[in-house]
Amino acid sequence: MKQYILMLSILFSQDYQIQPITFTDVQLHDQFWAPIIKRNAEITLPYLLDKIEESGLSHGSILYKTIEGASYILQANENSKLEQYLDTLIASITKMQGEDGYISTFPVDESERWGGVDAFGGKGGANELYSSGHLFEAAVAHYLATGKRNLLDIATKNADLIVEVFGWGKIERFPTHPEVELALVRLYQATGRKEYLELAQFFLDVRGPNGSEYTQSHQKIVNQHEAVGHAVQAMYLYSGITDIFAYTNIQQYQSTVNAIWENMVNKKLYITGGIGSNGIHEGFEEAYKLPNMTAYNETCASIASVFWNQRMFMLNGDARYIDIIERTMYNAILSGVSMSGDRFFYPNPLSSIGQFQRASWYGVPCCPPNLLRFLGTIPGYIYAQKDNDLYVNLFIGSTGMIELSKGLVKVIQTTDFPWQGNVELKLSPDRPSLFTVKVRIPSWARNKPVPGTLYRFMKNENKPLIITINGEPIKYSVEKGYAVLKRKWRADDKININLPMDPKKVLAHSKVEANSGRFAFQRGPLVYALEAPDHQEGQVRNIVISPNSTVKMSYQENILNGTHVLESEGISLEHQQNSDTMTRIKRPITAIPYFLWANRGPHEMAVWIPYKDSAATPIIVPLETLASTSMVRATGGSKNLDEINNQYVFPLNQHLPKVSGYFRWPLENKNKIQWVQYLFEKPSEVSSVKVYWYDNKPMIMTTWYENDPWPRCRVPDSWKLYYRDQSGRWQPVQNKGKYTNERDSYNLLEFNSVITNSLKIEVLRHETFAPCISEWIVNK
Ligand SMILES: [Zn+2]
Repeated sequence: MKQYILMLSILFSQDYQIQPITFTDVQLHDQFWAPIIKRNAEITLPYLLDKIEESGLSHGSILYKTIEGASYILQANENSKLEQYLDTLIASITKMQGEDGYISTFPVDESERWGGVDAFGGKGGANELYSSGHLFEAAVAHYLATGKRNLLDIATKNADLIVEVFGWGKIERFPTHPEVELALVRLYQATGRKEYLELAQFFLDVRGPNGSEYTQSHQKIVNQHEAVGHAVQAMYLYSGITDIFAYTNIQQYQSTVNAIWENMVNKKLYITGGIGSNGIHEGFEEAYKLPNMTAYNETCASIASVFWNQRMFMLNGDARYIDIIERTMYNAILSGVSMSGDRFFYPNPLSSIGQFQRASWYGVPCCPPNLLRFLGTIPGYIYAQKDNDLYVNLFIGSTGMIELSKGLVKVIQTTDFPWQGNVELKLSPDRPSLFTVKVRIPSWARNKPVPGTLYRFMKNENKPLIITINGEPIKYSVEKGYAVLKRKWRADDKININLPMDPKKVLAHSKVEANSGRFAFQRGPLVYALEAPDHQEGQVRNIVISPNSTVKMSYQENILNGTHVLESEGISLEHQQNSDTMTRIKRPITAIPYFLWANRGPHEMAVWIPYKDSAATPIIVPLETLASTSMVRATGGSKNLDEINNQYVFPLNQHLPKVSGYFRWPLENKNKIQWVQYLFEKPSEVSSVKVYWYDNKPMIMTTWYENDPWPRCRVPDSWKLYYRDQSGRWQPVQNKGKYTNERDSYNLLEFNSVITNSLKIEVLRHETFAPCISEWIVNK
């Protein structure tokens, strides 16, 4: 492991008061994160390098983020083969750079630079600066890992050009997608070049007013008080503002980030730590609007939230920022990658009817390399220091070397967290000395699931947390969420804590409509979810659990390669369609850690569990009808033929029909007539049909990905119904009303009654999206 003293001295000269202990000074030896970090290095990294090779380096930011992630892996473990491979990538980046420092990973004419003449209209657009930001971060990481200046020189040459082109009295414009701001600060930290810091500040100050909320340019930065717009952009921007406050001490920047943080945590945060509930603009919604199935929670936004919260901690030394980091790491971020390490979620919803699955790649593959670079640095979030204060922020088995003003302290942390609450910290200062150990007491161990007012425990049991030093219970004060332990520490002093790990039920603020009548399971920082494979009916939205149910944790070696689940008892609700009775059947309940969901194929999943019948979606017992007893045939390549006639006659919720799947025609048959046909057992009289056109437009927007098992469904542009006459020819029905194609609801078509042995629907669609049907009902 290499250290570059010059850089570090600059890093700490005028900066945040609190400094995290960098990941290279912390070795993990835990059972939870160490295997994940190993998988990140051994599976995810080579997978991404292959993908980059396939795509021919065209996505600058993806390439740079991967180099950054690879550099962290290199910094933790020397690997000459990887180092050489990075050099070849860097050599090809050198070739893309112009004489003057301009760089784009795709060809851009001189006139198209910086978005061309019109603001961000050209090819390069805002993305040039965004990509440059990731280049700078990669360059600093690569330099720290290898001591080589090859990428750093490219970065500074490019940064020098940006300094020349942008600024007051030059081009006065800001990048749509922030990132370059915080990256310029990093480049300043690495080089000591003040103009980079000034340029970062310029990019903040030039933003707004009269722009859009989407780009956080609706107001000047210092007048913004709410988390709005695109969530990843927002997190990078707020990180940049926090950085600039740390260096300039201009109070308005601090007021801005404080107000925005309060707004986010009190009104816009999912229980998983995810942020950005709206998939259409990939961003924040109005206060308390936290839908579960359409929750966007982009993996990148969660990662960037950790970046921002870490900065807020470094500024304030308050444990509540680490509470958000811990929650986000263990839930919203970790669900972004599969157990296999090579499948990724872009959005991380809190409920599914089986339409979500991690993909091998995305049209905009921003999340996988972001995961790569974040996971490699997790050891760097465990400890921090300020003068003679040693912060223990996360509970992860590890050995940290921490430099305090009074000398070096070795901390050996032993714990089975997050499965068990035992934590032992063995301290070994290089000589006995007086200093303070600040051990974070998580909010969830102090009767609050998350900082802020959005969530609360259903039951609060106040059990004071016992801390012992060398086996003796001690009295301690809690300041800013930390147990403050100040004394003369000697070699092999031991601090022991037992964090309360009983499973809890969490309630959301009453203004969060999506969660009314529901609770979520939480144990420690882990949020739990119900998933279909663990439940008898292969569904979970039908399950109701009493608020008073007992819940216990158990280790199940047959679930998800062995994991700690929560077990309880619930009720499965079943509705007979031709009666008013609801059947209630007792069922054992198993909840899995949320981050592990969707590793057994796409299934129903729910984080928020009904405790009231009205919040559940009962199983509807299908009726035996003319359609359900029919044979189904359709255009070749159609999917899920049996979903069209399982005869769930009425969806309980207009927008989310009771489907575990739906029939869909092939995607490719644009401008071609496609059909689906019922063949009745015997000739029957029919006079109307009802078709439930399914359209999932709001559920998936920019997350268009390869091998999507549930691609975008749309209503057809037009459709027609035919019956087979006695001579076997298809005849159009004599319809009484118009053909309608309302999305997500039943469309009734009445016609002059006919006796036939077969009906056929033909559809036509002009765009490349599949027409889909949840249900096709036939009536006499
Ligand atoms: Zn992303």
